[in-house]
Amino acid sequence: IDPEAAALAEKLAAYRGVWVFIEQTEGEPVRVSWELLGVGKELAAKLGVELCAMVIGENVEHLCREAFAYGARKAYLVDAPVFKHYRTESYVEACCHLIAKYKPEVILMGATGMGRDLAGAVATRVSTGLTADCTGLDIDGKRNLMQTRPAFGGNIMATIMCDKFRPQMATVRPNVMPMPEHTGSTAGEIVREEFSVPEANIFTKVIEIIRDAKSKSHVDIAGADFIVSGGRGVMAPENFAMLQELADELCGVVGASRSAVDAGWMPQERQVGQTGKTVRPKIYIACGISGAIQHLVGMQDSDVVIAINRDRNAPIFEVATYGIVGDLFQIVPMLTEQIRDL
Ligand code: FAD
Repeated sequence: IDPEAAALAEKLAAYRGVWVFIEQTEGEPVRVSWELLGVGKELAAKLGVELCAMVIGENVEHLCREAFAYGARKAYLVDAPVFKHYRTESYVEACCHLIAKYKPEVILMGATGMGRDLAGAVATRVSTGLTADCTGLDIDGKRNLMQTRPAFGGNIMATIMCDKFRPQMATVRPNVMPMPEHTGSTAGEIVREEFSVPEANIFTKVIEIIRDAKSKSHVDIAGADFIVSGGRGVMAPENFAMLQELADELCGVVGASRSAVDAGWMPQERQVGQTGKTVRPKIYIACGISGAIQHLVGMQDSDVVIAINRDRNAPIFEVATYGIVGDLFQIVPMLTEQIRDL
C-alpha cells in the first residue's frame, strides 16, 4: 500500500455530508439556496450522506425549518447579533468554525454577490479548491464532486474535481438548478452552535443601509416567467419599445443579448447569458439574437424558446422550440396584435 495514498484517503474520509449555505438578508432567504438544496439532495443520495443546511444570521431559525421543507435533514445554526448583516470577516469565521468542527464533504453556495465573496474567502482560509459558476454537479466513483462549468469564453464545458482536498466547494448561479418541491414538512434536527465573533475583531462596520434608488425601476429578469429578448438585430435602442409592447401583453419583461447591452441599448441588469443572468422562463422569445454559446448558456433551460431571426442558419434555432425565419420588425408587431386579440 502506498503510504501517501493511504494518508490522503484517511484525510478525505474524515469529511462527510453535503452542506448548502442558506443565504439571507434580514431574515429573507434567497431563492438560489433552495435550488441548491434540490441538487444537494441528489448528491447526498449518491454519497449516502445527510443533506444539511448552514444557516448564519440573527433571528434566522425559521430558515432552518424552511430548509427542511426543501429536503435538508439537519441544519447547523449560528445565530447571534454580530451576524445581523453580512460581513465577510464574521461570516468567514462562522463558516470556518463549522467546517473545522463538523467536516462537511461538499459545500454549495449561490453565485450571488454574497456567495461569491464568502465562498472564495472560506476556500482560501481552509485551503481547499472552489469552482465558481457551476452549471452541472455530479459525483464520481471516488466520492469526488464533478463540477462542470463553461470555460474558455464558453466555448468548452470543463469538469473540475478537487480530489486532494476537502471540503469540495462550488458556487452555482441562480436559476441554473430547478427549484425542488416544498414538502410542507418542517421536521429536522437543528444543531445550534454557540459561536460569535467579538465586534472589535471586525473591521467592517455597517453604519446605514441605503436602498438602491434604481430598485424602484429594477426589473428582475431572473425571476420572470415571460421574457422578450432583443439582440443586435433590433438595430437601435428605440426599437426595444416594440419588444416592450409584446412583453407587456404577456405580463413579461424585456431582456437583451450582450451586444445590445454593450451598444448601450439596454442596461446590464437585463443581459442574459454567461456574463449576464441565467433565466428559466416559461417562454423566452429571442428577437434578432444569433444564439452564441455565451447567450445560450443563460437561457437554454427555458420551457419554451421562440426564435425570430432572418437568418435560417442562426444557431439560436438549434435550441428553439419554435423558429420563425423572417424580419422581426414585421413579426413582433404581428405577434403582439395576435396576443392582444386573444
Ligand atoms: P449578433 O451575433 O450580431 O446577431 C444578431 C442577429 O440578428 C443575427 O443572427 C441576424 O441574423 C439577426 N437579425 C438582424 N436583423 C434582423 C431582423 N431585422 N430580423 C430578424 N433577425 C435579424 N453574449 C450574450 O448575449 N450574453 C452574455 O452573457 C455573453 N457573455 C460573453 C462572455 C464572453 C467571455 C464572450 C467572449 C462573449 C460573450 N457574449 C455574450 C457575446 C456573444 O459571444 C455574442 O457576441 C453575442 O451574444 C451576440 O449578440 P447578438 O446575438 O445580439 O448579435
